[in-house]
Amino acid sequence: MLIVKKFGGSSVANKERVYNVAERILEDYKKGHKVVVVLSAQGDTTDELVAKAKEISSNPSRREMDMLLTTGEQQSVALMAMALENLGYPAVSLNAFQVAMRTTSVYSNARLKRIDAERIDAELERRNIVLVTGFQGINKYDDITTLGRGGSDTTAVALAAALNADRCEIFTDVDGVYTADPRVVKDAKKMDEITYDEMLELASLGAKVLHNRSVELAKKYGVELVVRSSLTQAEGTIVREECKVEKMLVSGVAADKNVARIAVIGIKDEPGKAFELFSLLGKHNINVDIILQSIGRKGTKDISFTVPRDALEEAKRLLEENLGKLAAQRLEHDDHVSKVSVVGAGMASNPGVAALMFESLYDADINIKMISTSEIKISVLIDERDTERALNAIHEGFKDRF
Ligand code: ADP
Ligand code: ASP
Ligand code: MG
Repeated sequence: MLIVKKFGGSSVANKERVYNVAERILEDYKKGHKVVVVLSAQGDTTDELVAKAKEISSNPSRREMDMLLTTGEQQSVALMAMALENLGYPAVSLNAFQVAMRTTSVYSNARLKRIDAERIDAELERRNIVLVTGFQGINKYDDITTLGRGGSDTTAVALAAALNADRCEIFTDVDGVYTADPRVVKDAKKMDEITYDEMLELASLGAKVLHNRSVELAKKYGVELVVRSSLTQAEGTIVREECKVEKMLVSGVAADKNVARIAVIGIKDEPGKAFELFSLLGKHNINVDIILQSIGRKGTKDISFTVPRDALEEAKRLLEENLGKLAAQRLEHDDHVSKVSVVGAGMASNPGVAALMFESLYDADINIKMISTSEIKISVLIDERDTERALNAIHEGFKDRF
């Protein structure tokens, strides 16, 4: 059997944790299985590297950021190889170059395009435990790229697909996927299983337990995932196409603080303006999410929308430069907002969900700034300071529907 195991940063944060993970790897290796392990940077290493860069420059280039951030994963795999060697087992660490994990060219948010299995296969044939750096790739210029924060999950799923693995296990610091972040909502319940579609929504809406691209890839290549704890033997949550149990109304709630709101005020009320506005942002790879357009007045209208908070400065700059072209009066922005969402495949045919969500927020005296809905989710934009209270209020409101 070929098994891909991924361990997150907290699972390898210090010497004890490194040896704990080494033992978990050996459980399978000793049974004769081939084991490929994907590791993240230890503990808060990636955040510390980001802080270090900010000390040097307020606006470092994305290329150099990727060069810097990927050093964290390289430390982890080398240290783990040393731990395994020390325990008397053969291991080899490989970075994205050595495996040959090719990505698109964009820095800081690259997508995996191709993985060569040759080197890993050869190492497995030699009975080596193969340790691969998560989060990183190589683009067509032979530069190092990263897959976006949390991207090691995606490395693991892509490897599982490329190697045709029999199992893909994502080990983290909680024992599965819960109906809400268990660190914020004490009553959150662990799910035994969840569908790709629901997990994809939850991950995209802020539940960082899995990188959203990893779920997308898992669905595309039919890789069944298990999310479980590196510290206990608890069963974990299976992420797959179909679930056995009947669909519940909602599967979970999630919050995302990487959001900012922009309002373009007094834009000319004529065909083509929305197209101009959003194509400008699209061309610069800025994702736009919730969009709201006011009713026109005196030949003008206002368009508000959300962008990732880390893209706010760039979006503002672009729009300021083009205010004239867009025939708009001015910009406003708010970067103290968050997006809270309810997700569930069962809600498509149930009109009561939105009302119940709004009632829960009303009971908690939380104001809604924007709303957006789709077949399987409802999101609201609120004041960032209300995030944790909102998650708890909504979770409580839906507690009999999970
Ligand atoms: P890792 O370093 O292992 O990749 P992450 O910090 O990226 O770990 O993800 C695990 C964290 O995700 C948990 O500690 C938890 O606080 C958070 N989380 C958010 N939403 C959920 C959820 N619905 N279920 C479980 N964990 C969640
Ligand atoms: N170390 C990277 C990060 O902190 C990748 C990961 O943990 O998945 O975002
Ligand atoms: Mg993670």
